Amino acid sequence: MPSIERARKPLRQIPGGPAGRSGEAGGVEELLSRLRAARSVFVLTGSGISSDSGLPTFRGAGGLWRDERVEELASPEGFARDPVLVWTWYNERNAAHRRANPSAGHYALAALEDRVPDFTLATQNVDSLHKRAGSRNLLELHGNLREARCTGCSQRRTLDALGLPLSEIEHACGGRMRPDIVWFGEALPRDAWEAATAAAARADVILVVGTSAVVYPAAALATHYNAGAFVAEINPEATAISERVDCALRGTAAGVLPSIVQSL
Ligand SMILES: [Zn+2]
Repeated sequence: MPSIERARKPLRQIPGGPAGRSGEAGGVEELLSRLRAARSVFVLTGSGISSDSGLPTFRGAGGLWRDERVEELASPEGFARDPVLVWTWYNERNAAHRRANPSAGHYALAALEDRVPDFTLATQNVDSLHKRAGSRNLLELHGNLREARCTGCSQRRTLDALGLPLSEIEHACGGRMRPDIVWFGEALPRDAWEAATAAAARADVILVVGTSAVVYPAAALATHYNAGAFVAEINPEATAISERVDCALRGTAAGVLPSIVQSL
């Protein structure tokens, strides 16, 4: 299974694929006609869609929490070094997720699912907002914060709004309870990854929403598995894949998606 890493170089291009197509070539009208005709749609979302719900993206220069680098907190090494610090961070995030509400972008994708015979939504987010918005065929590629699991015996426990009490990190078996999250350097869950690549490969339309396309391997789903799909990107800024998509819509998910879905 692939593991999560930061891209160190631009994404490889598929021979004969979307390479070289201009992001200016297809506008929103072409996206609408492709979506109306589509039997199969695959959507990949990243933290940008949850920015509309007020959640931080923890990316780039802002990738710090209390002066700790997020990529170290979200790693097996960081957890081994200071599990209380890591759980303090995740408990704060868990509480923030529950205070947040799904955005208009989350709801638009749930509505799109009702219109398409074969619809798959893969997200890199762990905040459960797609689930709360009503998305059903949902693949949480990086896990979620609804549960903790033991590193020793794999026992699970459901987290409530308070998260995991710090006094209960150490488990009776000698292991430690950890968030049910895929950390940097860890493999993605096999079932979710295989379902996502299969859905990307058979899609007529691929939507890439609110992701900077720099976190492997999820970002590769946008352009590596299907040279024939119509690929549209919805993001406020240009990204690593903008040059290779068929349609690039500059805006937030909440700003762009509702009008698209209402126009179908
Ligand atoms: Zn245990």
